[in-house]
Amino acid sequence: MNADPDCIFCKIVAGQIPAKKVFEDEELIAFHDIHPWAPVHVLIIPRVHIASLADVVPDHDALLGRLLGLAPRLMKQLGVHNGFRTVVNTGRDGGQEVQHLHMHVLGGPRPWLRG
Ligand code: 5GP
Ligand code: ZN
Repeated sequence: MNADPDCIFCKIVAGQIPAKKVFEDEELIAFHDIHPWAPVHVLIIPRVHIASLADVVPDHDALLGRLLGLAPRLMKQLGVHNGFRTVVNTGRDGGQEVQHLHMHVLGGPRPWLRG
């Protein structure tokens, strides 16, 4: 599968660095963010290296649908029942720090550190 050897999230996909995983299947992985902004803060990523949302092509449509659809299931599983926030930072002006497509899913009682 397409991977970037310098990409930290590709290393998580490959099991080369640890992560607190909450979900994985053949296409997607979800794990707790290392610096959470909210009581529950997970990242959902595709296993395949896609640098950002700006780099998706129509072939990725089904994958993106699955990625979005996983969020409510994970929040339920993690005990978040009062709503949650989804964020996809894209590119430099979008504030993206890790260049592997990911969706933040944030929930739990406020206040939160950010947002
Ligand atoms: P971005 O600003 O690119 O949308 O967010 C990247 C997120 O990845 C940040 O919230 C950051 O805390 C998280 N992150 C960066 N490196 C690691 C890591 O090695 N493990 C985990 N679990 N999260 C990471
Ligand atoms: Zn990657």
